[in-house]
Amino acid sequence: MNVMLVLNQDVINNFFYILLSIFLAFFLIEKKYVPLHRAKPVLLIAAAVSIVLCMLSPIDVIANCVHDMRQIPFMLGILYGGWPIGGILLAVLIGFRTIIYGYTMISTVVYITMFVLTLFFVKPFARMKSKQKVRLATLLYIILATIAAMQAQVLNNFQITWSYVINFILFPAAGMFMIASIAETLRNHLSFSNKMIRFEKMEVVSQLAASISHEVRNPLTVVKGFLQLFKMEGLTEEEKKRYIDTALIELDRAEGIISDYLTFAKPTSANIITIDVKQELQRILDMLRPFAYKNSVLIHEHLEDCGVKGNVQNFQQVLLNIVKNAIESMPNGGVLRIQTKKTRHKVIIHIQDTGCGLTNEQRARLGEPYFSTKEKGTGLGLMVSYRIIEAMKGTIEVESQLGTGTTFTITLPVPLCNKVHHVSPTTNKETISSL
Ligand code: ADP
Ligand code: MG
Repeated sequence: MNVMLVLNQDVINNFFYILLSIFLAFFLIEKKYVPLHRAKPVLLIAAAVSIVLCMLSPIDVIANCVHDMRQIPFMLGILYGGWPIGGILLAVLIGFRTIIYGYTMISTVVYITMFVLTLFFVKPFARMKSKQKVRLATLLYIILATIAAMQAQVLNNFQITWSYVINFILFPAAGMFMIASIAETLRNHLSFSNKMIRFEKMEVVSQLAASISHEVRNPLTVVKGFLQLFKMEGLTEEEKKRYIDTALIELDRAEGIISDYLTFAKPTSANIITIDVKQELQRILDMLRPFAYKNSVLIHEHLEDCGVKGNVQNFQQVLLNIVKNAIESMPNGGVLRIQTKKTRHKVIIHIQDTGCGLTNEQRARLGEPYFSTKEKGTGLGLMVSYRIIEAMKGTIEVESQLGTGTTFTITLPVPLCNKVHHVSPTTNKETISSL
């Protein structure tokens, strides 16, 4: 019996390709070159590229069967990405197998079997803890590689030798263990840093209520003081005018805070319902149309019917803040594009302007309390919006180019029950008319 572990350059190349694609995908997401909601296409490309590269660096070719590590990215792609990604990977795998080495029925049968059997584990895999995931991926590799060898034996008279078992079942299983561990470590790192950010934001929020009332009280105190002064006798006209102007500036400030933070706030605003996104967007657009007109901003809307779960007043506040910012970024006119899309699990709202845009440093600070580049800005609008969307289990992502424009993308989960409630308008016209 000649049992030997093959550790040639091709084995090393195979692992190198797989690891490199995982690290590249992680790098792109971690550095935010790719937004989190596009992580799946990145996973798909990484897996597809490593499948093809592995095939181009075969470890051994025995009896028409080409052996390499392609099963590792293939199975991990299915486990993490589910059937749509798995299906594309299957097509890539069989397609390139045919282009590079010609068509064989056996490889088609083997990979379709592998695809179908792995699909059964996608749901339990998603619910597992990291260690269990790594164990499942490894075990599944051993089982599916064994089934594949048995299929080859039956269909192609393939000889299963000890050497084959060691080199193409057990050793790659160890490789799968290592690669799945690395993939999980990187994934945990991503979700950990996201959790940290969320935690920090929650901290900010707990101080928010106090600081907001402080912010509103300050201008009110000033106004009160000036009104008291105003009552004094013997004031000149000029003094009176100065007092009134100062009081008006302070009132403007209080009003700004209210419009960013409290326009839709109601004391009993905890009720969570299914919100009609299209209707709410139209309502906000109707409210802001005069303001857009004043800035010569054209509005293009492309709104699909879709629902999300949340508190309707809070949701209106988010839309108001983001759309208002978009219009404010185009003081000399421009185009405001609002689009909603619905996928099976997500509702995506794009709010795009052709305004002044942001630098990378500014973009990184969005959502920070009191961060504003406007003379009369409060820097509270986005902070509140981020917090509300977070509470709705959604995300806000921003793409921006200085001088060209900005796109805000709100992604929210599709509610389980899709019954949409129509809510009567709760517009606070006085606050809005002051925009
Ligand atoms: P405010 O509007 O009071 O300044 P926000 O929290 O609403 O506060 O916004 C914070 C900052 O984010 C703004 O001052 C602006 O610099 C930037 N910003 C937000 N939206 C946009 C946009 N669509 N285009 C350019 N800059 C924006
Ligand atoms: Mg604002």
